[in-house]
Amino acid sequence: MDEFRLIERIHNTIEDKQPGVRVGIGDDAAIIQPNAELETICCVDTLCEGVHFKRSTMKPADIGYKALAVNISDVAAMGGKPKYYLVSIAVPRGWSDDEVLEIYDGMQSLAQQQGVHLIGGDSVTSKSELYISVTVLGEVAKGRALLRSSARVGDVVFVTGSLGGSAAGLEQLLNQDANPNKAFVEAHQRPLMHTGVAQMFTENSTRMALNDISDGLSSEIWEIAESSDVHIELEESNIPMPELMEETFGRELSLRFAFNGGEDFQLLGTVSKEDWPRIAEEAKRIGDPLTIIGHVIGKGADVTLNSTTQKTRLVREGYTHRS
Ligand code: ADP
Ligand code: MG
Repeated sequence: MDEFRLIERIHNTIEDKQPGVRVGIGDDAAIIQPNAELETICCVDTLCEGVHFKRSTMKPADIGYKALAVNISDVAAMGGKPKYYLVSIAVPRGWSDDEVLEIYDGMQSLAQQQGVHLIGGDSVTSKSELYISVTVLGEVAKGRALLRSSARVGDVVFVTGSLGGSAAGLEQLLNQDANPNKAFVEAHQRPLMHTGVAQMFTENSTRMALNDISDGLSSEIWEIAESSDVHIELEESNIPMPELMEETFGRELSLRFAFNGGEDFQLLGTVSKEDWPRIAEEAKRIGDPLTIIGHVIGKGADVTLNSTTQKTRLVREGYTHRS
């Protein structure tokens, strides 16, 4: 890899003049002009080959898409609007510049859809695996960020979309299923972002706790319960799952995917009963409907799961990466 040639090629794929960017790629660092009315949200996440993805389950463009997506989802989970991103990439010998640029194509396809601009990065070579670390900067109105600590007794608990599809897709990819379900595979390789509905939440300026489901419902719901010090009760029968998942994998495994599979990047939140109808109606109107999956029933960090047969404490068990 010729680092300078590669940076030049990356640079050539993007539009340099962007609002708010005084200096983009090409100097020692980028300069952005923050909006004084807003607060800046910052996050970074890294994908490692062999830990977070395998070359057999993710094409280079999918790796790029996902490396950016995991961060955009974190900004959405704060109720913010993603604006800029930086990429640090460690490329092993054996990857051509064209393949590296495919990673950038995958990132750019999502970046364009979300209105996020590449403002810099770093490129190094690695011994044997690919690492990609993406930093995203976003904006939110002052004091309006949606924190995990905002759940209150009496709130309803909701999620966007459906849960478990990403784990189902990964399962089929790892098993080299001859006829994998396209929707499951898409959920794994190209998870949809919920930035639109997240910004609607903040614009409505309601009190809301919000988190995104990266590790799995069981661990993310515990994070809200602990940050807010509340007792949450979930209804197993209300958990939305993608079409055909139960038919393909059975109820028990589907529930495991939904609770512990992770990487669905749905938003999980709580809002007061009074605000719920308005928020739910608006979410439906913008095409990202919400489902009630439980309630905040008391004080003290706890999570209970009601199934048709029993009431149990929800075991916190996020996805552990298979190697
Ligand atoms: P420096 O030695 O000052 O860190 P670099 O050669 O690493 O400079 O980077 C030069 C410019 O190219 C900087 O603006 C940097 O942000 C950008 N850049 C480097 N690598 C990447 C990359 N992989 N993706 C995007 N921009 C990059
Ligand atoms: Mg550098």
